[in-house]
Amino acid sequence: MSFIYKQHDDYSSPFDSSRCAANVAWGGRSVSFHQCERNKKLKPDQDGNLWCWQHHPDYIKEKREKEEAKWEQEKESQNAKWRRQRAMRNACEGVPTEMLETIKVKYLLNLR
Ligand SMILES: [Zn+2]
Repeated sequence: MSFIYKQHDDYSSPFDSSRCAANVAWGGRSVSFHQCERNKKLKPDQDGNLWCWQHHPDYIKEKREKEEAKWEQEKESQNAKWRRQRAMRNACEGVPTEMLETIKVKYLLNLR
């Protein structure tokens, strides 16, 4: 979630209620912060704070949920891959290496 900007010392600007409330790091990763510059198409949250589209809690929540769904999917496909590999290893157990090599060569030839 976005944090609300607050004037933190004598050199930083006071909070401007006509702008998005988000506390933004200079250059994205800096340790110094400023208030988001956007002042158009602001939308209030349930507490009445105004946010631009990028820093609005609803957008951030939606974005996080999408990312989590994607990670879930990737995790599931990785797990499925590991299950296939484990099944393959189990199936090959006890089979002489030479025979496995022959099977592999035949398999690869069939793919071409
Ligand atoms: Zn903003």
